[in-house]
Amino acid sequence: MVVLLLNLLVALAFGMNLVKVTENVYMAKGAYGLPSKENRGFMSNSYGILTREGWVVIDTLSTPELAKEFMEALKRVKEAPILYVIITHYHMDHWFGISAYKEAGAKVIAHKNLKEFYDEGFADMVLEAIKESFPGVFDNVKLAPPDVVVDSRVKLRVGKKIIEIIPMTPAHTNTDLVVKLDGILFVGDLVSYKRIPFLGDRNVATKRWLEVLERIKKMKPKLILGGHGDPMDVRAVDWTKSYITYVRENVRKLKEEGLFVDEIKEALKDSPFKDSYMYEEFHMRNVYSVFNELDMEL
Ligand SMILES: [Zn+2]
Repeated sequence: MVVLLLNLLVALAFGMNLVKVTENVYMAKGAYGLPSKENRGFMSNSYGILTREGWVVIDTLSTPELAKEFMEALKRVKEAPILYVIITHYHMDHWFGISAYKEAGAKVIAHKNLKEFYDEGFADMVLEAIKESFPGVFDNVKLAPPDVVVDSRVKLRVGKKIIEIIPMTPAHTNTDLVVKLDGILFVGDLVSYKRIPFLGDRNVATKRWLEVLERIKKMKPKLILGGHGDPMDVRAVDWTKSYITYVRENVRKLKEEGLFVDEIKEALKDSPFKDSYMYEEFHMRNVYSVFNELDMEL
């Protein structure tokens, strides 16, 4: 942890605030918040793993412009080809930069369900809706299907490194992939620390998500790199579990007492998590989503 902090403190900035996290892993850290003209949609993280043969990237960021800036930053560290980009899940801030990677000749790896989401036209529907909600941010986004899909654990051998890709879905979405490199886990939005996780996806499965968090904990990661915020350790897994459990248990209890969804939202507006990032943006939507999800679980 001390080493990690030192690494961050002496972090070298290469244009897009690239931070060296470990010997071979670099990160660009987005702001907290929703997409806006000010943040240009840069509100998530992207990681570059340097191997002898070239770069392996985790998540594309939200737009091709940001994806290009990230690739340029990586190339300032080491001029080497971008070989692969692995998408942790189908939320816009993790894969809407895909076209820049395709142009750069990288192979895009994602969960099988992300390809389905694209093939069935839902991805473009989401893009159109997002363009309307956040005007001027996503104008140049062009979606494309992944080149390689996975739906079971696979090992990617690149430049003497073994990168494991482990589907852990359904949880945050039905497209969640965890990437393992030595003791490091790249977890997308499955784990967060003091940032409210989004439980409102149409394919969310919070009960399974809690099981996934147990599984992640059992893997004893030395370092957890998420889709948002700073590098984490295993305490973040407990924090994420405690929030999801809090919402599930309180919604269930109030539901059993016969309260309507609006009454439950009102009752849970305040919570021990209210000082966390994204509370305003996500918490009420999470309560609403879990209310509906519990119906399906019964
Ligand atoms: Zn997400």
